[in-house]
Amino acid sequence: MEKDCLFCKIIANEIPCYKIYEDDSWLAFLDINPINLGHTLIIPKIHKDDLFGLDEKTLRSVGSILQRIALAIKTGVGADGINIGMNNGKEAGQLIPHAHIHVIPRFASDGFESWHGKNDYQPEDFKQTLKKISKEKF
Ligand code: 5GP
Ligand code: ZN
Repeated sequence: MEKDCLFCKIIANEIPCYKIYEDDSWLAFLDINPINLGHTLIIPKIHKDDLFGLDEKTLRSVGSILQRIALAIKTGVGADGINIGMNNGKEAGQLIPHAHIHVIPRFASDGFESWHGKNDYQPEDFKQTLKKISKEKF
């Protein structure tokens, strides 16, 4: 548990939440400022700032619950679609520095703008980018 971490306090039951799922490694609860009702945060029980701190075992275990949680939300609130996202780093919009995955139910004409990219890059831009990423270790 990280001192002064809001999400660690939720895990420790020091701050209440609307819990929808829990196992040894993960806790899922309703976001208090939802894009739509049912907007859920899935957080690792071990404090890590973001995606890059998570260990292999924790990462693997989210794979088996993500789809089930998303489906329960989709069916439960009758959503038309689901966005799954994760902000990593404050420049990426991360406000709470305890890793978390957003599961957001979407409705036709809910007015929320999903991110869409620019269409002004050339083949050379993609080739150069592919080179930069491919030289990194996976
Ligand atoms: P971020 O911008 O860091 O990716 O998202 C943090 C999310 O945590 C926001 O969507 C915000 O509404 C949510 N949040 C902030 N404080 C609380 C809280 O005390 N309880 C709950 N359930 N959600 C919170
Ligand atoms: Zn924490």
